Amino acid sequence: MKTINVKRTASKGVVMGKAYVVKRPDLSADRTVIAESAVEAETARYEAAIEAAKADLAVLAEQNEIFGAHLELVQDPTLYDGVLEKIKDERKNAELALEETVDMFAAIFADMDDEYMRERGADMKDVGKRLMCKLKGVEDSALSGINEKVIVVAEDLAPSDTAVMNLEYVLGFITQEGGVTSHVSIMARNLNLPALVGVEGIMSEVAMNDQIAMDAKSGTIIINPDEAAVAEYTEKMEAFWKREKELAEISLLPAETPDGKTVELFANVGNIEDIKNALPHHIDGIGLFRTEFLYMENDHFPTEEEQFTVYKEAAELLEGKEVIIRTLDIGGDKALSYFDFGQEENPFLGYRAIRVCLDREDVFKTQLRALLRAGAYGNIRIMYPMIISVEELDHANELLEACKKELKAEGKTFNENIVVGMMIETPASVACAEDFASRVGFFSIGTNDLTQYTLAVDRGNKKISNMYNSFHPAVLRNIKRTIDAGHAAGIKVGMCGEFASDPKALKVLLGFGLDEFSMSAGAVSEVKAELRSTPYAQAKEIADKVAKCAYVREIDALLEA
Ligand code: PEP
Ligand code: MG
Repeated sequence: MKTINVKRTASKGVVMGKAYVVKRPDLSADRTVIAESAVEAETARYEAAIEAAKADLAVLAEQNEIFGAHLELVQDPTLYDGVLEKIKDERKNAELALEETVDMFAAIFADMDDEYMRERGADMKDVGKRLMCKLKGVEDSALSGINEKVIVVAEDLAPSDTAVMNLEYVLGFITQEGGVTSHVSIMARNLNLPALVGVEGIMSEVAMNDQIAMDAKSGTIIINPDEAAVAEYTEKMEAFWKREKELAEISLLPAETPDGKTVELFANVGNIEDIKNALPHHIDGIGLFRTEFLYMENDHFPTEEEQFTVYKEAAELLEGKEVIIRTLDIGGDKALSYFDFGQEENPFLGYRAIRVCLDREDVFKTQLRALLRAGAYGNIRIMYPMIISVEELDHANELLEACKKELKAEGKTFNENIVVGMMIETPASVACAEDFASRVGFFSIGTNDLTQYTLAVDRGNKKISNMYNSFHPAVLRNIKRTIDAGHAAGIKVGMCGEFASDPKALKVLLGFGLDEFSMSAGAVSEVKAELRSTPYAQAKEIADKVAKCAYVREIDALLEA
């Protein structure tokens, strides 16, 4: 018996079963230098591989939109030119040219600061593998052999693997590579299967048919568990499923406390797929649509039409419920491949979010026009990020008014009365909360940034991560001040930072009077369960005490009591 602890949970769940260790065919390229006379034949071979891969992907794209992206990638002129250059100029055979080009692009993605973009390197590798199989005339059939219930253990799993895997037999996934936003993680969450990713050394620890017990909530893997461990995991499994069943039932109930105080439970999303996955959780709306992914996935600033299509679909999917769409929040740790931000000493204090938008009015107006037009198809609300001054807010609103004028002159349909709100994520916006509250339709507190700016603690710096604490009195008081200022002006105050989904924070946020809690959809039922067992009167009492505490440890004690 061996126990491995894993830090990152990709998809929760507890399961026991046999390991199915995925062994891949050798897809390394032979290192061959070709004669000039062979360049044409080698090019033709590569082009035939593209055609064959395209044919496969066209079929797969009908089942899963991830393959639509692969279909584009396989035809990408930059990839094609990169390979051809190596065949023609460096006289490499097609396999080697492909391997080197894919490695180069994957390395560029891997170097990016943003985790989401790093994971997109996996798509490039997946497409590269497909092309390599075609060139070498081999099939990657490791996963099509699954014909009994197993836990799949693999170096990595690509989206295309799910197409050949009989998912009926899959109990869970463990991969050596991958992060929480990688495709295997997303896929596991969608399928409601437990998954642990980025488990170093797992491929050398586990052999085919080894017994595995995994708890993807606490992040534990036991290889060949003994009798006691099997008994423990059998109990854990039962408890997990009992809780899941309870949560599924709770998700159908109203978001209200035992003494009748209701709040809204919203979801945070980054694209249409996320919305589709969030809807079964019975959410009351979308509290944060992070539009930057739309920009990061593209190789150009998305056009008005491209954006309009997405926002309209979002509005229609929510059938009249609120969809709060945040305008472009780029910069900081989020880069665009097609836009140079320049070198900055302190990117989080630099050229980011609304600052970029007010500087690049053309880019901003394209988004505002798309939002105004999509607003005619549902309950879209616009939200500005990172605001620090009323001048900024006024400037953004002037551009919005200019867009309305343009659309009117063009005879386009749009929502003239679209509700506009702002994120509270800077200490400046808290200090001036009253001034803002009288000028916007709603507030949404972004605790991820508000915590880092209030405490002057970089949210991504591991060295000081113990200091990054939203339960710090300064952060809690900023939250309370924001809620009070919003309510005094009669506007709704929500929260879309991670803190909204922390069950320990619920009492204090509820007691402060937060109206809307927005979080990843998977967390909604847990928070609803907590809410339904927390009397509002009690939450208020505790929150009043918490607001007066000077020490974090006092706050902890009050919330844990
Ligand atoms: C926040 O800062 O709390 C927030 C929700 O925005 P992001 O995490 O996208 O910066
Ligand atoms: Mg933020």
